[in-house]
Order: sequence, then C-alpha cells, then structure tokens
Amino acid sequence: MNHDDLNGWAKRAADWVRDYHAGLRDRPVRAQVAPGALLAALPSEAPEAAEPMERIFADFERLIPGATTHWQHPRFFAYFPANASPASMLAEQLANGIAANGMIWQGSPAATELELAMMGWLRGALGLPEGFAGTIHDTATTATLSAVLTMRERALAWRGLEDGLAGGPVLRLYASAQCHSSIDKAARLAGIGQRNLVKVAVADDLSMDPEALGRAIAEDRAAGHVPCGVIFCAGGTGVGAFDRIADCLPHCEGLPTHVDAAWAGSAMVCPEFRGLWAGAERCDSIVFNPHKWMGAQFDCSVQFLRDPAAQVNTLGLRPEYLRTLEGEDVTNFNEWTVPLGRRFRALKLWFVLRAYGLEGVRAKVRDHVAWSEALCERLRGMPGVEITSEPRLSLFSFALGDDAATEALLTAVNREGRVYLTQTRHAGRFVIRVSVGSWDCTEADVMEVAEAVERLR
Ligand SMILES: *Cc1c(COP(=O)(O)O)cnc(C)c1O
Repeated sequence: MNHDDLNGWAKRAADWVRDYHAGLRDRPVRAQVAPGALLAALPSEAPEAAEPMERIFADFERLIPGATTHWQHPRFFAYFPANASPASMLAEQLANGIAANGMIWQGSPAATELELAMMGWLRGALGLPEGFAGTIHDTATTATLSAVLTMRERALAWRGLEDGLAGGPVLRLYASAQCHSSIDKAARLAGIGQRNLVKVAVADDLSMDPEALGRAIAEDRAAGHVPCGVIFCAGGTGVGAFDRIADCLPHCEGLPTHVDAAWAGSAMVCPEFRGLWAGAERCDSIVFNPHKWMGAQFDCSVQFLRDPAAQVNTLGLRPEYLRTLEGEDVTNFNEWTVPLGRRFRALKLWFVLRAYGLEGVRAKVRDHVAWSEALCERLRGMPGVEITSEPRLSLFSFALGDDAATEALLTAVNREGRVYLTQTRHAGRFVIRVSVGSWDCTEADVMEVAEAVERLR
C-alpha cells in the first residue's frame, strides 16, 4: 500500500462510510455479539508477509460492523451521545492525512493557532467572559485530572512536584455524590486519595448543599487538613444533576473551583440553558466535551482556564529538546495537559462551527431537548411506567414497578436493538436512562423508545 493506493482506497472507504450511515437505521443499535466472539475469529499473531488490501478490507466488512455498537445510530440513547457530524468526519480525515503532532507550537503552528482561535470561539459561544483561555484534551477525565493536580500543587505551593507527597498534609477535595467517577479517579491518581474526596450532601434537587460544603471545609481546617479545591457537577451522568454553583461559591472559602460540564456544556450555546450553570463563569476551570453533544467527534474535550499559568506551572516541563529557538513566548499546549503528543483536534471544531454555524448547533440541542421532553410525556402517560427523574436538558429516567421488571424490560429492549438505552441507580432504584443527542436523530427516532417500551414491557 503506497500513497497512490491510499487515494483509491480512501475513495472506497468514503463510499463505505456513506453506505454505512445510510443503512444505520436497519442495524441493531447495540452490537448483538457474545463476548469473545470477534477475538476468536482473529488470528493470534501478526502476519509475516504483507497481505493484499482487498483481503484486509473484506475482513473489515465481514468482522467489524457486526461487532460494533453504533454510536452514530439515530436511535442511540444510551450513556451520553458521542455525536459526530459529517463536517467533523471530513476534518478528521484531513487531520489524519497530515498526521501532525501538535505537541509544541513549532511542531505544528496551524494546530496550535487554530486551537487558540477555536478556544476563543467556544468561549464566546458558551457565553463565558473574556479572560478564560482554553485548551483541548482527549477526554474530560484527563482535563479533570489536570485541574485536580493544579489544585493539589496550589495547596502545596508547588512543592509536591519536587518533594512528592510523603509527609505532607492531608489534602481534601469536595464534590457532590452526583459527580462523575472521573473525579474519584482524579483524587486517586493525584495522590489525594479517595477518602479525602469529600462527597458533600445534596438537596432534594440533587444539587450540592452550600451550607454543608462550607461546614465540611471548616471542619477539615479545624482538624488540621488542607482543603485544596471544589468540583462542581453541571449535568451529572446518572440523571443530570446540576449544582447551584452561584449559591455554593460564597461557601468555597476562596478554594480553586472546577466545573464538570462534560455533557451539558454543549447546551450552553443556547442562552436559555445558561441558568443551569450560573456561577460557572466565576470558576477557575471548566471542562466540557464537544465530542458529546456538539458534533465534533471523539476525542475532543475542552478545558477553559481562568489562569492557565497555574496549570502550566503544574504540568509544564520544557527540556532543551522542546525549546523553540525563534521565540519562547509561543503557546506550547503540551504544557497545559498531561500527554506530550497531541492530535490536531482543533480542525474538526473549525469545520463544525463553520459548516453548521452556532445557529445550527443550537437548533440540534433545542430539538434534542424538546424531543426528550415529548418522549417523557408519552411514557408518563403509559400505565405502569413511572418517570423517576424529570428531563434535565435531554436526559430523563423511568422505571417499571420493581427493579426486576425494569431490568427485564431494558434487556429486552437492547436485545431487540431498535433503540439502545442504559441504566443507572437513582434513589435506590434500578432506572432506565434516556439520553437524546445523536446528530442524525429525528423526533420519530426518539418516539421509537415509547414504541419499544409498549411492545416489550
Ligand atoms: C462523560 C462524562 C465524563 C467523562 O468523560 P470522558 O471525556 O470520557 O473522560 C465526566 N463527567 C461527566 C459529567 C460526563 O458526562
């Protein structure tokens, strides 16, 4: 395979992708394969001799799509979406063809400067004040880890980086129990420890109790611990909990703050939803994933920072071989993030934001929210179906009379494959989540959830 062959195969791949998307509605959403089936169909060792591309492509068609859960299926309502617009796919093809590593400015000025520009576009699009700088991570998990490492080092006056953590104070982090497991992971990996991530009590609406936050910080200080940061949940993964950030900020005692809006952040392109994260604009760090709900496909997680210097002081290293001789004042985005190497992810944001415009992105979000609400009302009207959490943006949950019946329904729905739904535990119950956000879904696709429930319950 050389570059001339690549051209022909790329055209064939583009045709394959067109047909794949055109045929998605005829496929079951969730892969209908047993664990290990694909693995057993693959040779256990790499071939010694080159194989013809015809055979490789034929095996791809034979083995891969059937063992794939189709995240771009218009009836994918599981987890959160990881939606991908056609403009994003095109940009990714170009970025793949260039295959640059944008680790430092010199490594690819285009990657760095387009990222700088896109962070400005997105900051404005989400209604955040000037003064926030931004960078792109692979995932929200890494962005949150970066924020937590920065909280740790601020609390230690940047001594942890040199000295390690042994013999240091007990650091304490605060978040509600509705926060995502990536916060737990960050507390673990940053050496703060799971038990020093304080899960602050929530009110009836699942938002963090501001008074409880203030009390927890005061008690920790009295006990000689060192509080180092507060993490807010803006769109929880279970049932879409939102902390009332503005109400909590006066109780944060000046600690650094980070907002996890991995899913819901994209909805803030619509001014009418911004009340949900009021106060985020005064926090130190915010993460949101355009790869969830903005059509800029996985992976693309944006972190806004009020003071990038704090994070760069924590994560940045500049050995001789990474210096830019022409000027040291350029932005080297690897110093803002955990990995050194970085893909050219800004390109898909540029394509998406231009190909659809902010109006196009807002229209998608508004449709998804409206259709989710309409579906919720239809399910509410069905005897035996109980809405267990009201729609937060495009996410709600429902259940049948008892856990066993709900679980049996979910299994039947996903085995049938017309729609794909997943579960969470809410208020002690097994509940089915409905999360609308696929790029190509229509209202009719969303309503198929009600039809599946009617058919299979
Ligand atoms: C999806 C999600 C994450 C983790 O996202 P990754 O980008 O996959 O790491 C974190 N927090 C929330 C609220 C999420 O919905």
